[in-house]
Amino acid sequence: MFFSNCNLRCVFCINWQISQGGEGEPESLRDLAAMMLHLQEIGCHNINIVTPTHYSAHIVLGLDIAAADGLRLPLVYNTCGWERSEILSVLDGVVDIYLPDFKYADSAMAAKYSSGADTYPEVTKAALLEMHRQVGVAKPAADGLMYRGLMIRHLVMPNRVSGTRRVIDWIAANLPKDTYLNIMSQYRPMYRAFDYPEIARRLTRAEYAEAVEYARQAGLTNLDIQGVPPS
Ligand code: SF4
Repeated sequence: MFFSNCNLRCVFCINWQISQGGEGEPESLRDLAAMMLHLQEIGCHNINIVTPTHYSAHIVLGLDIAAADGLRLPLVYNTCGWERSEILSVLDGVVDIYLPDFKYADSAMAAKYSSGADTYPEVTKAALLEMHRQVGVAKPAADGLMYRGLMIRHLVMPNRVSGTRRVIDWIAANLPKDTYLNIMSQYRPMYRAFDYPEIARRLTRAEYAEAVEYARQAGLTNLDIQGVPPS
């Protein structure tokens, strides 16, 4: 379930019409609950709420209605990672799977490409620790599905803009080595990325391979590796 707008407003956003154009329709809390129940009825495995941060209070209220009407699916909190820990603490026991990005290791890069968000690295690190405290390491159940845990995504960007090595170093030093980490290769310039020459191209195979190798060398054991990008 996509929510309109985003607190980070990245210049390279692939979904910029939703995240920054505000595409979407107003819905009531009852409608929100009905949508969740519909997903359950048609056999979905979870409720995946995308860019939920600025609607977290409404989501909890909608969930309350849906749970009273029989919603039993796990809730996936699919976020850019720039979350205040005090808000996350309210979600303790509500969210089953946290699916955050860890987009930047460097404040200046976060500020440059994501609407001045120079607190991103420090805020996101605290958020990841709180998420891990709540739900722990993500491990599939016997049926192969994931019901609980922290699943981190990192988008490798051209010219080391996202600070991949420092992101990996931090995860390896502060979270269990079997923390799930999806190293994403699909970066492509979209929206306003062409205004920034250093990110106005796709990732190379060499850049992606370097990121994966670094994560392995750091001892991370639960890596979700994607296909290499075209060189
Ligand atoms: S955090 Fe994700 S959804 Fe939000 S603007 Fe950035 S790329 Fe788009």
